[in-house]
Amino acid sequence: MSNIERFTHVDELRESIKMASQNGLIGFVPTMGALHAGHLSLIDRALAECETVVLSIYVNPKQFNNAKDLEKYPRNIEADIQFLGDRKLLVFHPEYEDVYPDDFVAAKVDLGSLATVMEGKFRPGHFDGVVTVVSRLFDIVDPDRAYFGEKDYQQLAVIRRMTQIQNRNMTIVPCAITRETSGLAMSSRNMLLSREERQKATGIYAILHDGINHVSEMTPLELTAKLINNFGQQGFDLEYLSVTHPETLEQLSDHWVPGARVFVACFMGTVRLIDNIALC
Ligand code: AMP
Repeated sequence: MSNIERFTHVDELRESIKMASQNGLIGFVPTMGALHAGHLSLIDRALAECETVVLSIYVNPKQFNNAKDLEKYPRNIEADIQFLGDRKLLVFHPEYEDVYPDDFVAAKVDLGSLATVMEGKFRPGHFDGVVTVVSRLFDIVDPDRAYFGEKDYQQLAVIRRMTQIQNRNMTIVPCAITRETSGLAMSSRNMLLSREERQKATGIYAILHDGINHVSEMTPLELTAKLINNFGQQGFDLEYLSVTHPETLEQLSDHWVPGARVFVACFMGTVRLIDNIALC
């Protein structure tokens, strides 16, 4: 027998959460489905730390700036439910009308430069869409702890900023990136890759990781140029590569700071992949 309770409507979910909250902490893991081991790492951490865990599965149209990308985003709710095995979860998989009723008013948050660099620059409106949906989901679930992956490190920074500005009484829990043994960061988009593209995509982590070896002999700007060159030499279609401060996400030029990170976005055919690692 499955331990999963499924909800599409807000009121029924809220009712169950209200009852569950008497038993302890409510954990929340928002996802867009096409679940993989990366998602499971967040879910299992939430299950270890909270009495009740809500998993949302919703492909949010508002955060896609590209209609083709939205159209081909993988969706298979039944396979996702199977994949969760015997985990005890409240799974919320709403329809558009449940998330965005007619009287819905989107939250507005000034994200400053966090929203204009990297993903914000190349996916205009993306973080406004993320803020809109996560804010709505937080209002619905009202969790004690919400789990986000460092795979989407900039998103994590945006959610932290949003939570502060909105004065939300909850803990945002960052979770490390889960990788395949090849080093490729797990992503729902990986299933859209051909075998050759998937093989080539293992080079992303290899090049980023090699960057660690050069931190002591180069400035951030020099390392940025070197890594961009390495991606070019290996035939990658790079969108951006940036070496940044881990909190402000501002590009570093001459000096290293503890926790400095490198971020990359590139296309494998029509599939857009992102990755990032700490360099020091
Ligand atoms: P998504 O379904 O892609 O929106 O992802 C839902 C959550 O899972 C986000 O917080 C992601 O950062 C996180 N996530 C996705 N892939 C990974 C991964 N490989 N390792 C850790 N977290 C991940």
